[in-house]
Amino acid sequence: ARAAAASAPLTPGALKDGTAVPLLANLGKPEGAEEAAALGAEGVGLFRTEFLFLSSTHAPTVAQQKESYTKLLAAFPGKKVVVRVLDAGADKPLAFLNDAHEENPALGLRGIRSLRASEDILREQLTALAEADAATEADLWVMAPMVATVEEAEYFTELAREYGVKTAGVMVEVPAAALLADRVLAVADFASIGTNDLTQYTMAADRLLGSVSSYQDPWHPAVLRLIQATGEGGRANGKPVGICGEAAADPLLAVVLVGLGATSLSMAPTALADVRASLLEHTLDDAKRIAAAALDAADAASAREAARDAAARDT
Ligand code: PEP
Ligand code: MG
Repeated sequence: ARAAAASAPLTPGALKDGTAVPLLANLGKPEGAEEAAALGAEGVGLFRTEFLFLSSTHAPTVAQQKESYTKLLAAFPGKKVVVRVLDAGADKPLAFLNDAHEENPALGLRGIRSLRASEDILREQLTALAEADAATEADLWVMAPMVATVEEAEYFTELAREYGVKTAGVMVEVPAAALLADRVLAVADFASIGTNDLTQYTMAADRLLGSVSSYQDPWHPAVLRLIQATGEGGRANGKPVGICGEAAADPLLAVVLVGLGATSLSMAPTALADVRASLLEHTLDDAKRIAAAALDAADAASAREAARDAAARDT
């Protein structure tokens, strides 16, 4: 019986009423792909590509990148795999890309801003991704980090399409992009909300600084309102809005995020089982009611408590 349970197929992520909520994995290296699939990941919602760049003094070659992307994509035939182009700067500084003298690196040349300043690196990355895509069967989506303006969304999606990327999107992790999500998502094919940075920038509190760590709480209603605005921007344009920050790994917050309009959730693979179980306890109407209770709170602790009370009605 134990063997049967271990080999039983894991059900896809869904709410109690059957509404599908694909559960995806956050990965930082292609080596994690098989374990993620074994834990029930229906694909990859965030593949961070920094590992290829971090330990070196220069950018990896197209061939080196292609090898890694091919390994990743080959592990998910027929499945969605969202790759994020290099997010250098701030908490992920790169010697050959970032100016060490920025006073406020989180507000500096990071993410899409630094790629634009070194566009050859972005072009090489897109070349390697296109080659890996052509060699494999996964459904490749590519997204840019730290997009703040509609113009940046246009820049990235147009460039990605030049390389044959079929689904090009943006991360929403800057409040400006969340507030203008209706326009950003008129341009991009999808959005993925990075709640770690979205919280940092909403609360104006460095995510790496222990003395302000109490602000780094995605339950804050200010953060939830920006997630709601992004969900509405997706709905208005008929585009998917995923979540790939740590918030998606919190089983109760995951329900709130779906109630706010998230159409998929991506997380560390070890969190998949608890989130899957939590979603099955609530319908979409329940999730919207629980989200409304959290949104109505004045601070993070009360939002969590209000959601817990509202969710208790369903079990
Ligand atoms: C985020 O900001 O929430 C995110 C997923 O990206 P990272 O943590 O890599 O900045
Ligand atoms: Mg981020």
